[in-house]
Amino acid sequence: MAKCVMVLYPDPIGGYPPKYARDSIPAIRSYPDGSTVPSPSRIDFTPGELLGCVSGALGLRKFFDEGGHELVVTSDKDGPDSVFERELPDADIVISQPFWPAYLTKERMNKARKLKLALTAGIGSDHVDLEVAQGRGITVAEATYSNSISVAEHTVMQILALVRNFVPSHRWAIDGWNIADCVERAYDLEGMDVGIIAAGRIGRAVLRRLAPFDVNLHYTDTHRLSPQVEAELNLIFHPDVESLARSVDVVSIHSPLYEATHRMFNEKMLSSMRRGSYIINTARGEETVPEAIAAALKSGQLAGYAGDVWYPQPPPPDHPWRTMPNNAMTPHVSGTTLSAQARYAAGTREILECFFAGTPIRPEYLIVEGGKLAGTGAYSYQK
Ligand code: NDP
Repeated sequence: MAKCVMVLYPDPIGGYPPKYARDSIPAIRSYPDGSTVPSPSRIDFTPGELLGCVSGALGLRKFFDEGGHELVVTSDKDGPDSVFERELPDADIVISQPFWPAYLTKERMNKARKLKLALTAGIGSDHVDLEVAQGRGITVAEATYSNSISVAEHTVMQILALVRNFVPSHRWAIDGWNIADCVERAYDLEGMDVGIIAAGRIGRAVLRRLAPFDVNLHYTDTHRLSPQVEAELNLIFHPDVESLARSVDVVSIHSPLYEATHRMFNEKMLSSMRRGSYIINTARGEETVPEAIAAALKSGQLAGYAGDVWYPQPPPPDHPWRTMPNNAMTPHVSGTTLSAQARYAAGTREILECFFAGTPIRPEYLIVEGGKLAGTGAYSYQK
C-alpha cells in the first residue's frame, strides 16, 4: 500500500460540481508530433469535468481506493502548519500541478524520506528540486504535451489582447462608451516583429498559430529548427535571447525555468528592447524580474505585459503585477482548461499505472529517473 498526497487548487466558490457550459469536449487522438495522447487502462471520469480542483481529485479517487492505497487531497500547501507539510513525511507519491504548485524544496524533500515519485499533473516540474530528486533516486514525471496547445491558444489570445487593447475596451463596453479611449493604445498585429523564446512544443505551436497573421516571425532556441520548418513558417533565427529581444515588437516566452532563464528579463534586457514592446509570459514567472517589469510599464518602455505565470503562486495581494498599468494578466490558468484537464488527468493515471506495475514510464513523461535527468527532462533542464 502506498500513500499519495495530491495538492490541487481549491473548489469553485459556488460549489462542486459547477454547471458546465458545454456537454462535451472534442476528442483529441494525437499530438502534433504524432505521439499518442495518454493511454491509461481506464479512466473513471467524463472528459470535460472539472478535475483539477480538490473535489475533482484528477478523477483518481476510485483508482487509489481500488488499489488499497491512501489518498490525501488538499489545497493547503504553504507554511509549516499546512496539510501538505504535515502529510509529507510518510508520503510515497506527491502529485501537484503548476497552477497551484506544492513547492518541493530541498527542506521539504528532506522531510519526505519515503518519497519515490513526484508527479506533475501538467507540464513544468521546476517546483520540484530536481537536484535533490536526482541525489535521492526519486522519479519526477509529468504529462508532456497534455496542455501545450491549451497554453499556445492562451498565448495568442493574450498577444492580441495587449496589442488591440482589449481589456480597457471590454470595460468601456460594460460601463460607459468612449471609442477614442478604447483605441488610443490599439494597433494591428499585422506587420509587427514577433519573437518566440524557445521553440519547444508550446513555442512551435505559437509560431504555427501566428504565421497566418502576416507578422515577421523570429525565434531563438538552444537547438535550431530544421531548414524545412524555418522555410515553411518564414522564421528569422536569433542565436540568443538578447539579439531577439532588441529586434522585435512582441516577445513571447516559452523556455523552461532553470539557471539559464532565471530572471532573464531584467532591467538591462528590458532597456535593450524597442520602446513600446509587449511581453507575454506563459512559461514561468521567475523568468522575469517583477519589479523591473512594473517599472518598464510605468515608464512606457513596455506597452504591455500579459501571461498567466507568477511567483509565488498564489501571489500576495501586494504583488506589483496586480496593480501595474497595461497588463492583461490572468491567474495561472492557460494549461488547465477543462479540455487540458481530461488529458493531464489521464496522463497522471497512465504514469501511476506504470509506477505501481513497475513497468517503464514513457520517456516523454520522464524528467528525472535513476538518479539523473531523463527523457524530456534531459532536454529541457540540462545546464
Ligand atoms: P519543451 O520541453 O517542449 O520545450 C522547451 C524548449 O525550450 C526546448 O526547445 C528547449 O530547447 C528550449 N530551451 C531550453 N533552454 C533554453 C534557453 N536557455 N534559451 C532558449 N531556449 C531554451 O517544453 P514545452 O514547450 O512543453 O513547455 C515550455 C515551458 O512552458 C515549460 O517548461 C513550462 O515551464 C511552461 N508551461 C506553462 C504552462 C502554463 O500553464 N502556463 C503549461 C505547460 C508548460 P532544446 O530542447 O532544443 O534544447
